[in-house]
Amino acid sequence: MKKRQHRLKFETVSVLDNFLECIFPPRCFVCDRLLETADIRRQRNVHAACRKKLYPVVQPYCYHCGSPLADTETEYCQNCRKHRSFVAEGRSLFVYRGAVQKSMYRFKYANRRRYARFLAEEAM
Ligand SMILES: [Zn+2]
Ligand SMILES: [Zn+2]
Repeated sequence: MKKRQHRLKFETVSVLDNFLECIFPPRCFVCDRLLETADIRRQRNVHAACRKKLYPVVQPYCYHCGSPLADTETEYCQNCRKHRSFVAEGRSLFVYRGAVQKSMYRFKYANRRRYARFLAEEAM
């Protein structure tokens, strides 16, 4: 009985997801154009060409805010050395410029909540 309820709940979520996708079709995190059917089937949230516009932050990065650093000798960026913050440690997924800046603006101010799924998957 419990297994059946779980399956029923999963199917309900899936039907709801499909319904919402009809009303709010998935858009690319980078360019905000609608995703292709092939992208959706492969559960991609970014066009293949648009992925090249994302620059993942790799070491060395600031241990406080996650911004990329020029060298490995310092642990904190210039901004974090100057200003105190209540954040103990932060991490950035992508370099915050160009397409990512525009995407984060849409995420925060243009109701693109679906981007959260992409960002969470990238963070894993
Ligand atoms: Zn795109
Ligand atoms: Zn920093």
